[in-house]
Amino acid sequence: MESLTGKTALITGGSRGIGRAAALSLAAAGCNIAVNYLQSEEDAASIVHVIRQSGRRALAIRADVSQSSEVDDMIHRVQQELGPIDILVNNAGINPTRPFLELTLDDWRRTIDTNLTSAFLVSQAVLPSIRQRKWGRLIFISSIAAQTGGVIGPHYAASKAGMLGLMHSYSNLLAKEGITSNAIAPALIETEMIRDNKNIQPDLLPVGRFGLADEVADAITFLASNGYITGQTINLNGGWYMS
Ligand code: NDP
Repeated sequence: MESLTGKTALITGGSRGIGRAAALSLAAAGCNIAVNYLQSEEDAASIVHVIRQSGRRALAIRADVSQSSEVDDMIHRVQQELGPIDILVNNAGINPTRPFLELTLDDWRRTIDTNLTSAFLVSQAVLPSIRQRKWGRLIFISSIAAQTGGVIGPHYAASKAGMLGLMHSYSNLLAKEGITSNAIAPALIETEMIRDNKNIQPDLLPVGRFGLADEVADAITFLASNGYITGQTINLNGGWYMS
């Protein structure tokens, strides 16, 4: 396992849920952390406070990661304040729910833009500096929906399957440059995204309970500290989908 001490990590959607747990886990492993958020300013500020108290540097940064100009401004500011980004966790996501035949073009575009286009925009923006330094980690938070279709709907499944294509392509293109690209495909992790959906219950899962954000964060930190795993998807799903 490689040391992560002094590395800089950017977590998109780091204000809540899985992103929050990832920020704290990577900070505990020695990283300085940029916590991106869209609306949850207080949550992001409180994570930054906790990380700073632990002796690491941290920055809360508002940006809608589906918007190219906001992504560029965010990356510029993170690099100015924390230095070059070494680890990118493409985590920000939404899951608009409604009966699938009632999904609108706007639902589709919003979901694809927030979940998939964002991962493309942020990855493209950090990669020039990562390539110069010949060390980097791209980690995509996909979903079991990419593999099975999931329970949210076609818009969400397509956005998450697209992330796997993006991850595979970066893995191929960058493997010789010290840069790994991997995905995690979680299912039913107990965050607001799941708690808000009364149709989703833990008895759907072989393990009979929801997963914990900390269990996803462990896998994120593991992928960040391993230089030989690339192009892979870690299934973190309580045994729901077996590969
Ligand atoms: P939450 O709803 O708890 O958190 C979502 C995060 O994404 C928030 O921090 C939110 O920021 C941020 N976000 C949303 N839109 C944007 C945007 N346009 N720009 C920047 N940030 C944005 O979700 P989870 O923690 O559960 O999910 C995290 C990721 O994991 C998502 O991609 C989700 O699809 C995926 N996932 C989750 C599963 C689960 O069971 N929970 C299962 C499979 C995948 P803010 O609050 O500041 O607006």
